[in-house]
Amino acid sequence: MQISEDEIRKRQRTLKEKAELLKELGLDEELSSAASLIEDKSIRETIERHDDRCSYNACPLNFLSFGLDEKGELLQFRTYVPGDPSRHCTLNRQTREMIYSKLPPILRELLPNKALSDYEIAEDKKLAAMTPEEREAYLKAKEEKFKKYLASAQQPKLKEVSQSSA
Ligand SMILES: [Zn+2]
Repeated sequence: MQISEDEIRKRQRTLKEKAELLKELGLDEELSSAASLIEDKSIRETIERHDDRCSYNACPLNFLSFGLDEKGELLQFRTYVPGDPSRHCTLNRQTREMIYSKLPPILRELLPNKALSDYEIAEDKKLAAMTPEEREAYLKAKEEKFKKYLASAQQPKLKEVSQSSA
């Protein structure tokens, strides 16, 4: 590839600009189109499986979800829209971060969001601005909320089970 990393960084200001850049690099919007650049076979397989299954509009592993503005700040091209077949990426954050860490520099430049979703980036920013005490309280409250959500999500299921077995 003849395009430098610096040029790649400069040519992601709009969705159209980035799509053209990908075309010149011989890639499409999916990460698996760059499989030949990824050495690790198991990572390649994980990415290919992901691209077959993930239908999240704003998938963090899709090259056209994020770009960079003139100042080099992260820019989001795609957001969750109601009616998305899938609201979230099929891979969890840990797996996406592991994939990102194994990518060659040229592909990292094409994923300036570092394989993180808009929600994760916003949460990281929020946490970074907090004091350690605030952070602890925030994370604790979040965990409580999640526990409550899990409990309420499980209840109707339990009812269904008891009804079908009756
Ligand atoms: Zn995905």
